[in-house]
Amino acid sequence: MLPAIQTAENWQECLSDLITDPRELADFLQLDQRLDPAGEQALAQFPLKVPRAFAERMEKGNWRDPLLRQVWPSFVEERTAPGFVADPLRERHYNPRPGLLHKYRGRVLLIAAPHCAIHCRYCFRREFDYRENTPARRDWREALDYIRADASIEEVILSGGDPLALGDRQLRWLLESIARISHVTTLRIHTRLPVVIPERVTGGLLEMLSSCRQRVVVVVHCNHAQEIDRRVAVALGALGRGGAVLLNQSVLLQGVNDGAAILSELSKRLFAENVLPYYLHLPDRVAGTHHFHVTLDAAEAIVGELQASLPGYLVPRLVREDPGAPAKTRLV
Ligand code: SF4
Repeated sequence: MLPAIQTAENWQECLSDLITDPRELADFLQLDQRLDPAGEQALAQFPLKVPRAFAERMEKGNWRDPLLRQVWPSFVEERTAPGFVADPLRERHYNPRPGLLHKYRGRVLLIAAPHCAIHCRYCFRREFDYRENTPARRDWREALDYIRADASIEEVILSGGDPLALGDRQLRWLLESIARISHVTTLRIHTRLPVVIPERVTGGLLEMLSSCRQRVVVVVHCNHAQEIDRRVAVALGALGRGGAVLLNQSVLLQGVNDGAAILSELSKRLFAENVLPYYLHLPDRVAGTHHFHVTLDAAEAIVGELQASLPGYLVPRLVREDPGAPAKTRLV
């Protein structure tokens, strides 16, 4: 008898009970690991982490399942590929304080939490030094002083890791500290938690966000319509009713969502939950992720098909991050 996956009601229990062993995931999905063995080096460099609720949305017996492909630590990650490097965006160069990135004019990004609820194999921060960038309260104060001292900073982006992986007490302290900086008018939260552990959208979190002085924008990260089940829909609905502007960013990934029909379905599914598709990222050239790569020509063709079949507000902007550029490079 195959093991059943039990999901917890409490988000912190979900977060502390992730699937981290490839054998457990393969057994649950009735997959023969000999067909795509997990790579030991890949696992050592970037361990497996999958919330049980996310694994439940995967199709059993299907190695090509688009959710599984995003998290499976395949041995192919261990092959090198020309041009794929550890820090393609050279983020270390824009890191003036621990936990703070200042790449673009008018906005800064705080690495609010040093971990995520899921490890996406294509992640551009899979080699980011989170240990160096896990601020203690003292470091937070330095980062906040930096923001306070620069009146041109109007927007603070909480990123990660995943900022909603922080407990409510820490998150509240951070939000209240940012709220006291008068020139910051917008708070943006980049998070995958409402999709991968929708239980995170608690009454306490909604109350915290709705009482923010700043305009709150929540940018979720969803790559495929199969990621949105009933519980995710409820969580997104609650965030929207709580007053947050809801946007989505996806990464265009070979074997996951590199087709116009797949992305069209995703846009419609998101819109049904009041989320607008915002960015479609061309994947960054991070070491170990070459098997997800989609060429620019292919990406442009896919977005062209979306433009021909969807209203403009459902077509995400195809973008790429170029190191040192003053903003994301818009491709279509
Ligand atoms: S949730 Fe975001 S930051 Fe975390 S591993 Fe996935 S892509 Fe990277």
